[in-house]
Amino acid sequence: MAVKVGVVGYGTIGKRVADAILKQPDMELVGIVKTKPDYEARIAASKGIPVYTLSERLGLFREAGFRVAGCLEDLLESIDVVVDATPAGIGAKYKPVYEKHGLKMIFQGGESADVAEVSFNSFCNFDDARGRGSVRVVSCNTTGLLRILCTLNKAYGLGRVRATIVRRAADPKEVKRGPVNAIVPNPASIPSHHALDVKTVLPWLDIVTAAVVVPTTLMHVHIVYAELKNPPSSVDDVVKLLEETPRIVLVDSNEGFKSTADIVEAARDIGRKRYDIPELIVWRDSVTLNGSELYWIQAVHQESIVVPENIDAIRAITGLATASESIRLTDETLGLRRGRLF
Ligand code: NAD
Repeated sequence: MAVKVGVVGYGTIGKRVADAILKQPDMELVGIVKTKPDYEARIAASKGIPVYTLSERLGLFREAGFRVAGCLEDLLESIDVVVDATPAGIGAKYKPVYEKHGLKMIFQGGESADVAEVSFNSFCNFDDARGRGSVRVVSCNTTGLLRILCTLNKAYGLGRVRATIVRRAADPKEVKRGPVNAIVPNPASIPSHHALDVKTVLPWLDIVTAAVVVPTTLMHVHIVYAELKNPPSSVDDVVKLLEETPRIVLVDSNEGFKSTADIVEAARDIGRKRYDIPELIVWRDSVTLNGSELYWIQAVHQESIVVPENIDAIRAITGLATASESIRLTDETLGLRRGRLF
């Protein structure tokens, strides 16, 4: 029987997670919660997704001639798992309401780590999340870092990790955020919160990150340095490992992938919905092995990279599948690639 899921907060992350749930054979999307009867609510309804709202917003939807399926409480009454994709901090406020309904809860990376029993990445700690009451899927940058760090750790053992995070200023639809013409240390203090977030999953890792925000909406870029305890003899071994890892794609600047704009253009050319790139992108020609030191440059599509992890988190928390079964099914249903983008 399919697990019944509701998505509260239907913005950048919520709408993508909802679409992904619709593609899972073992999940049913019972509905989503919208606060306004805007075009996003109407598009959801046009796709046949039941739209719920907050009880105090029912009048607003009625006035707009939008027939909702019910209010938040009605949705929570009819599901097993809630995926909270509201803006940072709101999930923690909703938690007691979700608990009142006896729900399994998935939160996003904008919430502080203590919102859930475990911070989650499919490649690192799927089993820690099995059967828990609540899980937090870490943020986009942390998901990108953890995917590759856990892969490298398994193969070679990780020593120190140092990373510079070049953050996108805003998502494409966020018109009120900046900067539009500056580079902003964010924060100026080191380590940035990304290292601390990685440590919510890998507490033993010696990692330091520094971050700046730049005027782009497309993707984040990370420049990473890692020490390998048992390094391979050749960089080709590392490239082969990454090529064989699910949800990691390698691109080459010699093939024209000179920037994040080229990666996004390729995603559009191959017909990716919303030009989403849930795979972590690694520039093959950046991967450099110097004795036990490994360097590389990677790009993270902030709007979509956490979507497969949300789907896996639903399977982990409900005990529907093992890590490898879930990663395989998620990637198959969402059309995620390994090795090459096309
Ligand atoms: P968003 O602003 O795009 O979407 C949030 C949605 O929640 C909006 O539709 C908003 O109307 C709705 N909402 C606001 N208050 C609500 C309430 N009280 N009840 C129900 N719905 C409400 O935000 P987002 O970018 O999707 O971020 C959601 C979470 O995902 C945050 O924790 C964020 O940190 C995390 N996250 C975001 C990104 C990203 O790049 N956008 C990446 C990874 C993780």
